[in-house]
Amino acid sequence: MSDTHPSQTTPRDATDSGATLSAPFPTMPGFAELGERFFTRLRPTPLPSAYLVSVAPDAAALLGMPVEAASEPAFIEAFAGNSVPDWADPLATVYSGHQFGVWAGQLGDGRAIRLAQAQTDTGPWEIQLKGAGLTPYSRMADGRAVLRSSIREYLCSEAMAALGVPTTRALSIIGSDAPVRRETIETAAVVTRLAPTFIRFGHFEHFAAHEDVAALRQLADFVIDNFMPACREAAQPYQALLREVSLRTADMVAHWQAIGFCHGVMNTDNMSILGLTVDYGPFGFLDAFDANHICNHSDTQGRYAYSQQPQVAFWNLHCLAQALLPLWLEPGADEAAREAAVTQAREALDPFRDRYASEFFRHYRAKLGLRMPTGGDKEDEPLLTSLFQLLHEQRVDYTLFWRNLARISSADGSGDAPVRDLFLDRAAWDAWAEGYRNRLRAEQSDDAARRIAMLAVNPKYVLRNHLAEIAIRHAREKDFSEVDRLLAVLSRPFDEQPEAEAYAALPPDWAGGLEVSCSS
Ligand code: AMP
Ligand code: MG
Repeated sequence: MSDTHPSQTTPRDATDSGATLSAPFPTMPGFAELGERFFTRLRPTPLPSAYLVSVAPDAAALLGMPVEAASEPAFIEAFAGNSVPDWADPLATVYSGHQFGVWAGQLGDGRAIRLAQAQTDTGPWEIQLKGAGLTPYSRMADGRAVLRSSIREYLCSEAMAALGVPTTRALSIIGSDAPVRRETIETAAVVTRLAPTFIRFGHFEHFAAHEDVAALRQLADFVIDNFMPACREAAQPYQALLREVSLRTADMVAHWQAIGFCHGVMNTDNMSILGLTVDYGPFGFLDAFDANHICNHSDTQGRYAYSQQPQVAFWNLHCLAQALLPLWLEPGADEAAREAAVTQAREALDPFRDRYASEFFRHYRAKLGLRMPTGGDKEDEPLLTSLFQLLHEQRVDYTLFWRNLARISSADGSGDAPVRDLFLDRAAWDAWAEGYRNRLRAEQSDDAARRIAMLAVNPKYVLRNHLAEIAIRHAREKDFSEVDRLLAVLSRPFDEQPEAEAYAALPPDWAGGLEVSCSS
């Protein structure tokens, strides 16, 4: 991995026109070092009439790129997939996965193309175009992404990063007038995404399904050596890898729950081996709290409902464990050896539960501005259970609730109005608030300090569906200013931004009719 010049085998086309984008970073082979069993080298399909929709300053900074570069034709051509820079080695990777609980077989990067693995001061970044045209893994689909879903993915990636949630990042959206058929005719766009690696659980499942243990081992070694070197020190590195992924996944999902994020399609091919939120499709943030909220209109059974996310993550980890098992189970092992190996896998998965629980309580205690009680997490359970029940019954706006809760007084109800007014049944709020206030007084909570701490963890601004929708509607009319404005607001989610007060308001009535599906 020390090789810092791009692969010699990059397909390059002498017909590339114009200046190619120079990179402020060296590259390394990254995923390409795994060899051709793992991917197909190919060029992105050119995107006609490409123009810049938006560039994310924070993501550009990760690559050491000045945002001004985004207005250069070379930037647009490179991140539209129209010209392949000399530092790029574009390829699409193969993976498989379980979709909605069922083995789906081979999937792969059907519309994503890795450009390069950048080495930067902020770490390694795989640069990937999403929506860059057909690949050998496109199956029946067109290899494209529409502007609507690209804007949603772009904004949410950056919003989640600003919220402190582990996530892939998004550098830019390049738009086009090229028509793309979904339920209606839309237009195409390419989002450039960044992640240390885009390896998914599904990559491991793929080689396990093919009983290709050598490839499986190569992939696991790649992840350990590049991203989780501490696992190498463990007695059983592959078991340590599984344990590390379990812990990271627990952390990620606990954070999702705390901020009211629903992923919508937690298939194993959408689970990052690094525990990053990846593949933003029909995601949603809770408006009115509903524990069983289903954000994905295509998820008729509610498999991926908000309340199900922790269990689903654990189920997905079992799929990963199943895939990794051959790495510590000798071929031809007898029944006793098989049982021992399964036990080892369980031991690597089990920490998920405790880690999830402790992260869950840690997040919610911070949201409530409380200290760890002497009796530990258990002691917080009644207060939280009664709160979730109340929020659910009253369908209280989740984000506004937490934000306004910061302003109450521990002494009396004098500061209650903003939060109390969110409840239809004010008496129910009063009853819960009494218990909460008692707890605050018992720990001699300082109102001013608590308020500051709570406002630093309870965001004022999240990407509500209707905000994305407004930006999308403007963008369809070629006005991209709303995408930029929303990006700027969401990049400081905990700050009061007086000029952006409207972005923190309750959703308008029409937002109730918005449906988000897998169509993207
Ligand atoms: P998703 O549900 O978006 O995570 O996608 C599941 C699988 O379908 C992945 O292998 C994607 O690459 C592929 N896929 C989704 N949409 C398209 C598309 N428009 N063209 C090609 N492949 C796609
Ligand atoms: Mg996916």
